[in-house]
Amino acid sequence: MAAPRDQWRTRVLHAGSPSFDNGAVPVNVPVVRASTVRFASHADREALHERREAGEPVSTYGRHGMATHRALEAAIGELEGASHVLLAPSGLAAISLVFVALLSPGDHVLVQDSVYGPVRERVEPLLTRLGVSFDYFSAGAGWPEALVRPETRLVYAESPSSFLYEVIDLPALAAFARGHGIALAVDNTWGAGLLYQPLALGADISVQATTKYLGGHSDLMQGAVATSNPSLARRLRDTHDALGLAVGADDAYLALRGIRTLAVRLAQHGRHALEVARFLQSERSVVTRVFHPALPDDPGHALWRRDFNGANGLVSFALRHASTEQAAAFVDALRLFGMGASWGGFESLALVAPPSRLREQRYWRGNEPVVRLHVGLEDPADLIADLEQAFQRVLS
Ligand SMILES: *Cc1c(COP(=O)(O)O)cnc(C)c1O
Repeated sequence: MAAPRDQWRTRVLHAGSPSFDNGAVPVNVPVVRASTVRFASHADREALHERREAGEPVSTYGRHGMATHRALEAAIGELEGASHVLLAPSGLAAISLVFVALLSPGDHVLVQDSVYGPVRERVEPLLTRLGVSFDYFSAGAGWPEALVRPETRLVYAESPSSFLYEVIDLPALAAFARGHGIALAVDNTWGAGLLYQPLALGADISVQATTKYLGGHSDLMQGAVATSNPSLARRLRDTHDALGLAVGADDAYLALRGIRTLAVRLAQHGRHALEVARFLQSERSVVTRVFHPALPDDPGHALWRRDFNGANGLVSFALRHASTEQAAAFVDALRLFGMGASWGGFESLALVAPPSRLREQRYWRGNEPVVRLHVGLEDPADLIADLEQAFQRVLS
């Protein structure tokens, strides 16, 4: 396990801050937009190219990003405890980057069965076409010894998982992967770096959709890949370059700005979500189960307490004796919760979880409809009143 990281929460707030120029400086790094980078001389150009080739994150062209991007990479590096960070134009692009960088024709990958849906829907068909084969494992069913092949190169997991927040024993999974000489990548979107540090728990790569909590205001699409392994960083960087995954400077600025208030927003999301989750647990006539790892009776609670620094705003629940149509009528009856997918903003959202997604995972075998809430920064009493009126109108 990695050494304890000193003052990292404080360093996250200051990472990437510009240094003094003529004795004064704005607090925030400027938005530096560029395509062409102009060099003072041919020799300077050569020298910068050489430094870039050697792996330094210097820019010789706008596609590599400029000062704003470097500042964001530094801040995400502090969050994830990573020495190398690559930015991507969406969370899904960051995930695809990991798969394309690490896998070649003939290789095999083991994917947790409850990961973000588009990994199966989009990434698997792409990689299958390129000659990679996939197997899915359930994190709760013991480690997938029987599925490991000599050509298995990557284990890909997500903790807590999408929709039901299955918490996995990451140090144990990391020991399993290491024992077989397989790289381990983890989707860290739920934890946003602040709540969870996969690299310190033994993963080789941490990926997140910075679209979600780092952006925090529902106006950004972006992803990031973080690692402290120099050879993986090299492969990721070369593939990132080949795919031309450029991120706009304004978007880099938005994510950096979001990071500065991440701790206070997440603390509030976590408090509000727990209040809403407890209310849902009290509604026994309409709710059979509430999914949220901060609830003491959640099956992942002990692992969550051991490995996480808090919880976010996501809460899902299964409806008793309800059809999918009734679940849809319930979310339609909500007035404060908007209906939408990409959580992590300041606002509350609700969705009926797609039954096809839930059937893909072995964590929960119920067949009641599941509603996913993203609990925002609104007054939780108002959110609970909204849920109450929708329960009364639709399900009583
Ligand atoms: C949203 C999400 C993604 C994808 O992020 P985009 O920026 O929407 O492409 C990946 N993983 C998880 C867990 C997510 O919730």
